[in-house]
Amino acid sequence: MTKYIYSILYKAVSTCNLDKSEILYLLKTEENAKIFSAADKVRKEHVGDKVHLRALIEFSNYCKQNCLYCGLRRGNAKVTRYRLDPQEIINLAKKAAEYGYKTIVLQSGEDLYYTIDRMSKIISEIKKFDTAVTLSIGEKTFEEYKAYREAGADRYLLRIETTDEVLYDKLNPGMSLKNRMRCLEDIKRLGYEVGSGIMVGLPGQTIESIAKDIIYLKSIPVDMAGIGPFIYHPDTPIEKTEGNCFELALKVMAILRLLMPDINIPATTAMETLNPNGRLIALQCGANVVMPNATETAYRKHYEIYPGKICIGDSPKHCRFCIENKIKSINRNVAESKGYHRSNS
Ligand code: SAH
Ligand code: SF4
Repeated sequence: MTKYIYSILYKAVSTCNLDKSEILYLLKTEENAKIFSAADKVRKEHVGDKVHLRALIEFSNYCKQNCLYCGLRRGNAKVTRYRLDPQEIINLAKKAAEYGYKTIVLQSGEDLYYTIDRMSKIISEIKKFDTAVTLSIGEKTFEEYKAYREAGADRYLLRIETTDEVLYDKLNPGMSLKNRMRCLEDIKRLGYEVGSGIMVGLPGQTIESIAKDIIYLKSIPVDMAGIGPFIYHPDTPIEKTEGNCFELALKVMAILRLLMPDINIPATTAMETLNPNGRLIALQCGANVVMPNATETAYRKHYEIYPGKICIGDSPKHCRFCIENKIKSINRNVAESKGYHRSNS
């Protein structure tokens, strides 16, 4: 058995290709340490020791969608809703740039208040701070994606969540896997760097479907892949899953590093929610990016996609320096460049 895993890892490292049965073998095996160590080596060789920081601004928790897994779904009446004025968002981004962030990630629910005009203005103002801008604001039309790209947005994050169509359509009422894929195609066509990814541990998700997700992400091909464990939120109607899927999420991430050696891979916040050292562990299993929270403290507790989110009592400044110290503790350093995928290779 041990021999077989080495032959799969050898094939992954030398060809960046595995067929579905080999991916399944890696997902099922308990010899995780071997996969993690191979992914860490590949990360070091292809994207180096620098860690790219992306400042995350959670600017609105209003959402017109009703995803069964998410605490911000429109059906959750317990959420105190907030949205920041365009100028407040720009000011926060300016502060983040002053703390040395080279990328600003603007994330929200799908909030119709932010029209094309408002959003384009926010993007073009932030671009003046000489940072890359990433959007994570959900499903839009081609025209909207085009306007934001023309306003200066560099990257777009839209997780596919799962490529199991039956599961996707069940978990996302009123949405469809086909439209999600259409969005990712539009984003790619418009020249954004494409970030996507999945949640691991969704009720009803199978290991087979995760193997297909990995193949799909490679086929796009994504410039960035974010893998987060699913965390049950009690104010949502989704079925509760037992167990902690931290290790499996880590493994999906490590396999993606083997198959796409030079992409950007974040150590996700959800990983740290399940394990107090989750992000540092992820950085040693293939990840090269961290997305610290740059939202003002007062709003953080209301952006509760899932419970137990880290850093909700901390300030943007605290998070910026806390993460740098953590990164240094594993002998890695914060990158000074904007960290485009294209410049990694
Ligand atoms: N509205 C945008 C961005 C905000 S949601 C969008 O949906 O794309 C950002 C991510 O949070 C989602 O892509 C999903 O993968 C993740 N998420 C939602 N609910 C979650 C949960 N219960 N546990 C873990 N991650 C969750
Ligand atoms: Fe809205 Fe995104 Fe949450 Fe779905 S995952 S309910 S789109 S914030």
